Amino acid sequence: MERESLEMDVVFVGAGPANLSGALHLSNLISQHNEKHGNALGEIQIAVIEKGSSIGAHTLSGAVMDPRGLAELIPDFKEKGAPLEAEVNEDQFLYLTKTRAIRSPINPPPLNNHGYYIVSLNRLTAWLGEQCEAAGVNVFPEFPGAEMLYGENDRIIGVRTGDKGIDKDGKQKANFEPGVDLLAKVTVLGEGVRGSLTKKLIQRLGLDEGREPQVYSLGVKELWELPDDRYPAGRVTHTLGFPSDQWTYGGGWIYGMQNRILNIGYVTGLDYRDPLIDPHAEFQKFKSHPFVANLLKGGKFMRYGAKAIAAGGWHAMPRMYSDGVLIVGDSAGFLNAARLKGIHSAIKSGMLAAETIFDALVEGDYSARALKEYEHRVQHSWIAPELRRYRNFHAGFRHGRWLGMANAGLQYITGGRAWGIFDRDHQEAGHEAMQKLSAFGYHGDDVGQRYQDFKFDGQLTFNKVTDVYHAAVAHDEDQPAHLHVLDTNICATRCAEEYGNPCQRFCPAAVYEMVDVSEPGAVAPGSSEANGNVPRRQLQINFSNCVHCKTCDIMDPYQIINWVTPEGGGGPDYKGM
Ligand SMILES: Cc1cc2nc3c(=O)[nH]c(=O)nc-3n(C[C@H](O)[C@H](O)[C@H](O)COP(=O)(O)OP(=O)(O)OC[C@H]3O[C@@H](n4cnc5c(N)ncnc54)[C@H](O)[C@@H]3O)c2cc1C
Repeated sequence: MERESLEMDVVFVGAGPANLSGALHLSNLISQHNEKHGNALGEIQIAVIEKGSSIGAHTLSGAVMDPRGLAELIPDFKEKGAPLEAEVNEDQFLYLTKTRAIRSPINPPPLNNHGYYIVSLNRLTAWLGEQCEAAGVNVFPEFPGAEMLYGENDRIIGVRTGDKGIDKDGKQKANFEPGVDLLAKVTVLGEGVRGSLTKKLIQRLGLDEGREPQVYSLGVKELWELPDDRYPAGRVTHTLGFPSDQWTYGGGWIYGMQNRILNIGYVTGLDYRDPLIDPHAEFQKFKSHPFVANLLKGGKFMRYGAKAIAAGGWHAMPRMYSDGVLIVGDSAGFLNAARLKGIHSAIKSGMLAAETIFDALVEGDYSARALKEYEHRVQHSWIAPELRRYRNFHAGFRHGRWLGMANAGLQYITGGRAWGIFDRDHQEAGHEAMQKLSAFGYHGDDVGQRYQDFKFDGQLTFNKVTDVYHAAVAHDEDQPAHLHVLDTNICATRCAEEYGNPCQRFCPAAVYEMVDVSEPGAVAPGSSEANGNVPRRQLQINFSNCVHCKTCDIMDPYQIINWVTPEGGGGPDYKGM
């Protein structure tokens, strides 16, 4: 197939806060240098590609933003009209029992948000995209990075964007357009959590050698419009307890936005043990708590979304450079899980990458040796002490909620030290924590046992299909599924028996469904007679529901689900989220 090649200098894959900040900072550094040194670097072509239909369409966060990163990138961000919902003026920390909400007399220090800003990451990202365009950066939505381009000795030479107009059988349609090879001196991967290209690159180059496995959580979120001012803009509530069991890392958030919009969500650690846990159902149960239900009473449900969070921290960060490539933001695990904050560090990582690339452009050296300077910069920036202080935070929760909290407190005092069982050596990949049905004494194929007393009422609590409708997800259905299950034979046999097909539960968008394909009149295995009805179940992938949260790629116990980018522009539209 003939493909167009486009020569750029630097290509940023993914238009999240990390890469947009990187592109903008790089463009500014080049302009300043050219002004000072008589256009010494000439015109440098910078491109940012994004798989979503617009910039911000796929970015979903809480979000309370620590402004430190943005203030370094754009010191006059307020005057320039950065979309800020409200300055945080009240923090609450609640412990929820089944019926009560007990307010903690002290707010855990990592969750002290006074002076920070509540933002819609969708709006902030769109605004950063505009700043990039104004600075001359080429910003291309609807362009997924589908494949890395390798040169000699595994040097990265750019990225291939996804083909358009392929039908579900893999044939070219009338509107077929081949993807483009974007060639670059440096390619920056800022794909967010569990990036599909980043995952493959890390595996191929062994960039995670000697590091702890990354662990993840899943955040499920809704926006509600309230009938009155009962929850003011600027108030921040975090909760612990109900409905998570004490072996499951989890907690809720409630943030007040402008115009009586309540931003509410729940995080479930994707290293839970009980295979019947359903993070979407956990969130719905959270809303049914009397404290939360009262807040939402008379309100109108507006938007839904879900996305994974890289929670492993400092010890789980891969090597972030190689020949011709850098990794930034959540793709490299820059998020601080104890603070549930990653926007500020994503911005800073993008800026540090930009400074490294700028030096590389001046020197004309794009080798791993030159780009290694990026890690050096990270080590000497404010990111390192911040992340090191919480480096054993998540590992503590492997021993349950209370020991996890005790460990978190201890770490805060000791600057991140941990001993014995709390130590990082005890961190395992999240999916390995899931235990088999038999370990929990579950019987038969009733996989709804955990939530049997809980019903979605369609007013306060919603099923996945209703929720997905509110994520405004759109994919052209006539394209190959972008969720590759490498061995579907396991589904109806081994997985059904061992875990009860947990994909149906951990996916927050009803993508995976075991459907009955019984064959009337067929011959049962081991029998010579037709017995009327041989029960048979098979996996159905409703890929058009996918909200790109990456949970299936992370959580599948056999690690046989591979998430790849669908046709450009497909996916959720997280307006205002
Ligand atoms: C539920 C939840 C709550 C959170 N709450 C907070 C909070 O309150 N405060 C805070 O500071 N942080 C919070 N975070 C973390 C914060 O959102 C992230 O740390 C931050 O968004 C990371 O920025 P990023 O640029 O690395 O990635 P992202 O914001 O994820 O952006 C990545 C972009 O790359 C695109 N992309 C991915 N792959 C490709 C590809 N192959 N080709 C083209 N485009 C691609 C994606 O569509 C996306 O637009 C939260 C995260 C979640 C999920």
